[in-house]
Amino acid sequence: MVKPAPSCPICGRLPSERYAPFCTPRCQEVDLGRWLTGVYRIPGPPAELDEDPPPSPEAA
Ligand SMILES: [Zn+2]
Repeated sequence: MVKPAPSCPICGRLPSERYAPFCTPRCQEVDLGRWLTGVYRIPGPPAELDEDPPPSPEAA
């Protein structure tokens, strides 16, 4: 279990219950703006294919 640090991710102050995890609606907006402007990048799924390995010649 990983608990996020109990601080506003924008300014690092203690978050308000109302705006958690942010401390103020201002910080909430800042965070939202970052999402919208693409500062945060959502990593896609890894480009690895979980396929069965090719049959080993020894198994034949
Ligand atoms: Zn804040």
